[in-house]
Amino acid sequence: MSSPRISIIGGGIGGLSAALALQHFGYRVRVFEQARELGEFGAGVVVSPNAMHALNFLGVGEQIAREAGPAEAFASRHFQTGEVLKIRRNDHVERFGAAFHQLHRADLHAALASAVRRNDPDCVLLSHCFEALTQHSSDLVTKFTNGKTFTTDVLIGCDGAASKVRARVFGDEVVNYTGQVAFRALLPMADVPASIQEHPFAMFVGVNRYLLHYPLRRRTIMNVIGVGREPRWQEEGWRTSATVAEFARHYDDLYPAALQLIRAISPGTLFKWGLRDREPLQRYSKGRVTMLGDAAHPMTPFLGQGACMAIEDAMVLGRAFAASNNFEEAFSVYENARRERANGVQLASRRQADQIQGVTAKGPNPGADPLDRGLYSYNPVTAPLPRAAGACAP
Ligand SMILES: Cc1cc2nc3c(=O)[nH]c(=O)nc-3n(C[C@H](O)[C@H](O)[C@H](O)COP(=O)(O)OP(=O)(O)OC[C@H]3O[C@@H](n4cnc5c(N)ncnc54)[C@H](O)[C@@H]3O)c2cc1C
Repeated sequence: MSSPRISIIGGGIGGLSAALALQHFGYRVRVFEQARELGEFGAGVVVSPNAMHALNFLGVGEQIAREAGPAEAFASRHFQTGEVLKIRRNDHVERFGAAFHQLHRADLHAALASAVRRNDPDCVLLSHCFEALTQHSSDLVTKFTNGKTFTTDVLIGCDGAASKVRARVFGDEVVNYTGQVAFRALLPMADVPASIQEHPFAMFVGVNRYLLHYPLRRRTIMNVIGVGREPRWQEEGWRTSATVAEFARHYDDLYPAALQLIRAISPGTLFKWGLRDREPLQRYSKGRVTMLGDAAHPMTPFLGQGACMAIEDAMVLGRAFAASNNFEEAFSVYENARRERANGVQLASRRQADQIQGVTAKGPNPGADPLDRGLYSYNPVTAPLPRAAGACAP
């Protein structure tokens, strides 16, 4: 394909992964990010083998492994007694051909951003908040809230769960509040009770709630995430402050050391967000626009796969461009390769909430294992690319 002008809206994990994948295949891209500086909020993210295949291929895997530190076994623990019910070894390299890492989001984001900027120092334009677009037969014009406009051939919406690109292209949609609220915090490892440090990557599953923790940055920080039921509407954004009392209220019968972990969170470092759920889209692309990551398939956090799906998307989109004769074909190949997989994970994540928290079963079911459903065995570097309808043979 002759080199189209490619614009990406959003410089998060999805937008930067897409930029890196397209650069890898020889395309020049522009990333428009609304923030004044590139960065990520303080939280952990797990990157499973399916996404690590892409990050390894794109040359950032070693840096990620260095930042993450040693691989951890995963312990399912009894909600009230703390008894270890099940240990899952970290044998992902043997089983899936790539590692499973727990990372600080800022470290994953920084690895992607520096690789993108090494390839092209002018790639990212900050302080550009996307506002509107107009599609023409020969190009597309994007408008930003700073008054600037930019003409491009194709646009990739990577602007997250509340995507404005999606709203402009596909219109408003129904958003359901799931009745669940999530909390997140980071703590210095020195503040973490010893019996929690013994199994640093662990989950306590109770009926209608769970608590998950895992270490970051070579075990110097503990990342804590909890989800509880909250019938009142909560904000969707990931940066709403919460108090320890609000968080602990969901966990009054939790294993005492785990409750101590919650109580050790410093004021001002705890955040909450209301989990919303959207229906899967039947199309990710329209005309000169496609979408990727949370903009295309926003999902609840129960499988820890939102960022991984964005990375998978990015890898497949880069390959689709490289394998196609024009952007229409690339979009079609990309969408056909991704829709079933990403929408399937979006729906599986919704089901997982009830499965692990025992809402449909008689009690908590920490045995429910997404690995048994082939989640990690997908490899976006080698997954077949379905041909676009009507495309010429390469
Ligand atoms: C606490 C927490 C823990 C998580 N843990 C995991 C995990 O363990 N594993 C996992 O795979 N996923 C996890 N997720 C989900 C994952 O973080 C998201 O799915 C992922 O960040 C999606 O990436 P994205 O680039 O599509 O969107 P985002 O990360 O939301 O990035 C969107 C970017 O677009 C920018 N933007 C938005 N609007 C505009 C605009 N109008 N103009 C220009 N720029 C704009 C934003 O500033 C941002 O930089 C977690 C999420 C949270 C909140």
